[in-house]
Amino acid sequence: MTSVYRQRRVPTGVSAGLPPDGVIAIDGPAGSGKSTTAKALATRFGLLYVDTGAMYRALTRAALDAGIAAADETHLADLLRAATIDLKPGKREGIVIWNGRDVSAAIRTPEVDAVVSTVAAQPAVRRSMVSRQRALGRRGGVVMEGRDIGSVVFPLATAKIYLDASLEARADRRCRQFRERGEQLARTQVIAELAARDKLDSERAESPLTISPDAIVLDTSRWSLERQIDEAARAALLNPYLDTLIDTDLRLARLNQPWHYRTCFRLFKLFARFFGMRLHGSPGGAIPAGTIIVCNHVSWYDPPLVGAWLERYPIHTIAKEELFKTPLSNWLFRSLNTIPIHRKGYDPKAFGEAQAALRGGANLFVFPEGTRRAIGHPGPVKAGIGILAQETGADIQPLFIRGSCGLQPGGSTDSPLELSYGPILRLHALGALQARYELREISRRIAALVQTVFEELQARSFERFPETEFEMRTGQVLLKKFARKNARLFGN
Ligand code: C5P
Repeated sequence: MTSVYRQRRVPTGVSAGLPPDGVIAIDGPAGSGKSTTAKALATRFGLLYVDTGAMYRALTRAALDAGIAAADETHLADLLRAATIDLKPGKREGIVIWNGRDVSAAIRTPEVDAVVSTVAAQPAVRRSMVSRQRALGRRGGVVMEGRDIGSVVFPLATAKIYLDASLEARADRRCRQFRERGEQLARTQVIAELAARDKLDSERAESPLTISPDAIVLDTSRWSLERQIDEAARAALLNPYLDTLIDTDLRLARLNQPWHYRTCFRLFKLFARFFGMRLHGSPGGAIPAGTIIVCNHVSWYDPPLVGAWLERYPIHTIAKEELFKTPLSNWLFRSLNTIPIHRKGYDPKAFGEAQAALRGGANLFVFPEGTRRAIGHPGPVKAGIGILAQETGADIQPLFIRGSCGLQPGGSTDSPLELSYGPILRLHALGALQARYELREISRRIAALVQTVFEELQARSFERFPETEFEMRTGQVLLKKFARKNARLFGN
């Protein structure tokens, strides 16, 4: 069932468009063609182009000029905090203005190349750059290129593209770029420099160069420039195109449901409306069949509050086995397709049932943190969600609930009750990841993606309605309370 939605390309002749607030994230190693592709897509789709590498380069240039060492985290962070960086479109390469001075040429020298990755690896530098980059693109309508755009800066991007190319092909491109600027560099030296930079960029602790599991991986080694741009443009439109295939006829979906489901949904909806629940994102229940729906978990009231809006299909759920103890609860949960799970360690029986449900075209609802967590502090997301997604190839619909602690009739001023829909995460990169890593590592990466998405949905919610005094206080109290319980349950 899921395979209907697991297409790799937009069929020719189909016109799909990018939403006006769309964000295209392009990541990949140095010399993989990111800048050229990003600029071309910006022109084609009328987007703002942001080269995040140029921002790290500008800081590196300023540090070199000021005699600050590339690993001096504190002074680099101070230098950056006091600086303005402006990016403007240029004829060939973008124009970069550092504190009002045009540094476009000065940032693209071998001297900067040699230390920029060390500068970019400093955690304080990254945190500050990431927040600047998010501010540049939060309103959408951007194509941003870098190393961590899809994984960290814009986890909710409309399209994530990972451009790859062999080391040799990338070195040839770099040599050509330097030649065009009138500089000669030995190919062996360029290969060594690129390899060193790849290593530093991929192995740093904070937001490393990585393939986001939902990125579309394109190997450009053998492609002409035209082909590279065409393939990237198609890739950018794939998710919006797949969204158009989702059946949005809610009425028809409801008709096919058993009576007890309809009754439950109706009761849940009354409950949610009574407490003034609001929806954000792309609600309406338009979630394709065979999808894993994941939501953060903060309160006992979450299942009915979230369930109220998932009324399209009978939903299979995973819940702790303790809930099935009495004959009545066992009958009730079983008849609502709830799968009991033993939460300590891996439960093959529960996973097997969940996989069978997904493969049969049902949706599966999971709280991937495994238990309730303190409000304001989502995660850690367990790797189990990654195992399920890998084994079934199912898409993931992330949801974020806020306000289910502190309910008040008609809506609470302590904590607004809302459900945010993230974009459907389609794991386009599974094949590429499976060729590089083992199952456990990929599961960890999928869980990390879901965690980042929860954090971003929460950040957006806080932008609409800042975190309240009540939420901060309750969050702190619950953090302590749950820490003890979670240590008992999972050892964390
Ligand atoms: O893309 P470009 O080669 O100009 O990037 C220069 C360096 O900046 C990269 O090698 C990398 O170390 C750093 N960078 C980064 N994160 C980004 C963009 C660039 O760490 N988002």
